[in-house]
Amino acid sequence: MAARIINGQDYAERIKQGLTEQVAELQSAGRTVHLVAVQVGQNLASQVYTNMQARNCESVGIRYQLLDLPETTGQPELAEELSRLNRDGRVSGIILQMPLPPHLDAQAAQLAIDPDKDVEGIHPMNLGRLFSGGEGLAPCTAQAAYELLLEACPDLGGKQAVIVGRSDIVGKPIALLLLQRSRPSPTVTICHSHTRDLAQHTRKADIVIVATGASQLTWQRHRAAVAAGKKVPPPNLRPLVTADMLGEQAVVIDVATNRIPKGLDAGGQPLKDDQGKAIMITAGDVEFEAASRKVAAITPVPGGVGPVTVAMLLRNTVRCAMG
Ligand code: NDP
Repeated sequence: MAARIINGQDYAERIKQGLTEQVAELQSAGRTVHLVAVQVGQNLASQVYTNMQARNCESVGIRYQLLDLPETTGQPELAEELSRLNRDGRVSGIILQMPLPPHLDAQAAQLAIDPDKDVEGIHPMNLGRLFSGGEGLAPCTAQAAYELLLEACPDLGGKQAVIVGRSDIVGKPIALLLLQRSRPSPTVTICHSHTRDLAQHTRKADIVIVATGASQLTWQRHRAAVAAGKKVPPPNLRPLVTADMLGEQAVVIDVATNRIPKGLDAGGQPLKDDQGKAIMITAGDVEFEAASRKVAAITPVPGGVGPVTVAMLLRNTVRCAMG
């Protein structure tokens, strides 16, 4: 049977409509909703992200400011800048763009942000609140995955949930959301790169949430080996979770965004377009086409968790503004 495709774009639009109204209400009550993104040095990937943040903030009426600090900014100056933003009552939320230049300690800088302005929900204080069941700010991607899951499967009680990936900002917080925010709760299993026989876990699960980026990692390792002059066989870029690893009842949330070649030629080189440029795609960790003919519901990549992650960032900003 064909799976229900869980449309993240539609869900994100609904969230944004609600936020537009909330922002207008706050503004008419004299309160500003203002997100400041702090960027140290120039970084192309980060610029793409900040442009996208600016567009999305504007679309719901949130004021957005990009604070560009020079590449040479030292740790004390960055901490002072963050402390100034913490004290500024007109600033609702702060986001620190990654990566920082290598001379800066990213973790220490992140700790300098006021937890009540931490719109990404990744400050240890907010992760601690999540750990103990509080209603604080949760990491945006984890919230996005959780909410899309609830869209397709509102009653999680007693279900078998398998999460693949255990990072501090994605895999682990998803597990905490499942355990702390849903009552009755599912039974949660967390798998990772040391898990033996992943399929044995995923096959019997009612809920499978995958967040590894394994294909991209394989591709990056392959490129590094080739660049180092090593003779290596073509990499296997097949998705980590194939359709045969999923049950027919499964609701599948694919968090991953792998940037990998669309295909490889006989020599293991990426297929190229007319201009000789490698054809790259964004793909998830799950074999989408085959899985969508088998499971109960699945998120696409792109168009699933990604747009909802952005909506969660906006919602966290509005929550910060509400105090
Ligand atoms: P990390 O690299 O921090 O963590 C990856 C996790 O996957 C690790 O726990 C690792 O296990 C596990 N893993 C890697 N390979 C395998 C494997 N072969 N089998 C089982 N587990 C494996 O990544 P993130 O958590 O930051 O991100 C995960 C994915 O989500 C990425 O593709 C990223 O691009 C995407 N992402 C998407 C966002 C969105 O908005 N849609 C936002 C943020 C991330 P171990 O701990 O043992 O090493």
